[in-house]
This record gives sequence, C-alpha cells and structure tokens, in this order.
Amino acid sequence: MSPSAAATKLIDQLLVRPGKPLSLSGHDPAATLGWDKEQAKTELVEVKARIDELQQRLYAEEKRSLLLVLQAMDAAGKDGTIRNILAGLNPAGIEVSSFRVPAGKEVLHDYLWRVHAEVPARGMIGIFNRSHYEDVLVVRVKQFVPKSVWSRRYDHICAFEQLLVDEGTTVVKCFLNVSKDRQRQRFQERIDNPHKRWKFRLGDLDDRKLWPQYQRAYHDALVRTSTDDAPWYVVPADRNWVRNLAVAKILLHHLEQMKPRLPPEEEGLDGLVIE
Ligand code: ADP
Repeated sequence: MSPSAAATKLIDQLLVRPGKPLSLSGHDPAATLGWDKEQAKTELVEVKARIDELQQRLYAEEKRSLLLVLQAMDAAGKDGTIRNILAGLNPAGIEVSSFRVPAGKEVLHDYLWRVHAEVPARGMIGIFNRSHYEDVLVVRVKQFVPKSVWSRRYDHICAFEQLLVDEGTTVVKCFLNVSKDRQRQRFQERIDNPHKRWKFRLGDLDDRKLWPQYQRAYHDALVRTSTDDAPWYVVPADRNWVRNLAVAKILLHHLEQMKPRLPPEEEGLDGLVIE
C-alpha cells in the first residue's frame, strides 16, 4: 500500500465521522491497527522526520498554526505521547499547554478565556494536554455546574474552534482510548514503583469509579464536536507504540494537508558569495 493510501485508511479507521453515530465500544483500545511493533518503531522515526520538515516550513511561512488537542482518562499516556512527539523536533516551533483545575484569574472569566490565550501563534504547533473539553467532561461528570450550563458548551466549543480554523489554525483532536483494565495495570505500576509513585493520587480512583459516566461524557463530546474542520480521532492507547505512531501519523496527515510553503527568497541571492 502506498504511504498516502495507508494514511487515508488510518484516518478512515480512527475518525469520528461528523454527524454520524459513534460506538466507543466498537473501538478496541488494544488494537494494533495491523502494525508490527518493530516496524512501527522504524516508521515512527520516518514519520517524525517528515513532521520536522513540515514544521520548519510552517515556522518559516508564519501564516498558519496547528493545534493538537489530547484528551484521555488518567494513565492513557498523554504525557508519554507528548514526550514522544517532541523528542527530536525543533522545540522553538512547538509549545505545550496543560490545563489544570481553573484557579486565580481563570475562574473570573468564561471557561474559554484561558484556552484562547494558549492557542498557538502563527508558525507554531501547539499541543494541549487536556483542554476546554474538561469543561464538558470532568465538569459534567462531577456536576460542578448544572446540565443547563454544560449542555450549551458543545455549541460554544464548535463556534470557538470554527473561529480558530477560519483564522488559520488547523484543529486536530485525539481521544487516547485506554481500557479500564490497562488503566488498573498502569495505576498499580505507579503505586508499586517508587519512581512513578508521584504520578498517582488517591483522587485518581474517584474518577476511575465514575468510568461509565466519563465514557458517556466522552461519547457525547466526540459526537457533538467532531466537525469536518476540527475532527476527533479515537486512538487506541493500551499499547504505547501504537498510540505514539497513530498520533504522529494523524499529525503528519494534517500538516501535509496544510502544505506549508517556505517564504519567497529575496532577489539577488543567486550566486552571491560572502566575503
Ligand atoms: P494530569 O492528570 O493531566 O497529568 P494533573 O494531575 O495536574 O494533570 O490534573 C489536572 C486536573 O485538572 C485533572 O483532574 C483535570 O480533570 C482537572 N481539570 C482540568 N481542567 C479543568 C476544568 N476546567 N475544571 C475542572 N477541573 C479541571
């Protein structure tokens, strides 16, 4: 299969089709997507080399930006994915933003205020580690605001993302789909390994107890906000190597679609010799 046919197939498999029903249980978190682990490692190096090349063009062009949103249950590997994507790329062209429980000035504004401020500038790739989607996920599940408030937010979010797209930001969203059993194993590893224990908080178990409620909230968020211009992808996240390659390939696919171009050269450079 040619690389572009393979990319189209992957996009097809993982895309949440706008306006169509979604069955999250139909997406296997342990899927290998037909890949082999050793080959996947080699391929990841190639995919990242291409991302690096296109990132440099995007940076030089300085007209558009790309926002990659990562959302997931705990221990699905948001941090690992980001570490993996960033390694080997030019840090000057990529910025990562993490969103925690809103505090200070953030709570004095609407929920999109802090998010808009972190949208990547022209020329940049921005990665969101959590995002405005927390405001229809944790906020909904934990009932921090009534339904009448969170249920309006899907429309706000679609309008906000459309604004970004219209103004030159490509928006790509990945739900890292981990299984409940894999989360259990990873939590246990964190508890058992003194070097990983800092990653675990007892509060993580509260969210784990609310697994079905979170699945429903994710389902609704994905269905209500996957659009042609700002699509969601469901990425299998039980195997790190599948997750990393899938996200890298989705990122590459969208960068390729952007076709960033180097700016025109100044006149008079041909044959110029520096003394
Ligand atoms: P992570 O779990 O991503 O490694 P943290 O341990 O700092 O990072 O957790 C961030 C916490 O902030 C998560 O529990 C998340 O649900 C919460 N959070 C993020 N955004 C919001 C929000 N808008 N409202 C309430 N809680 C939020």
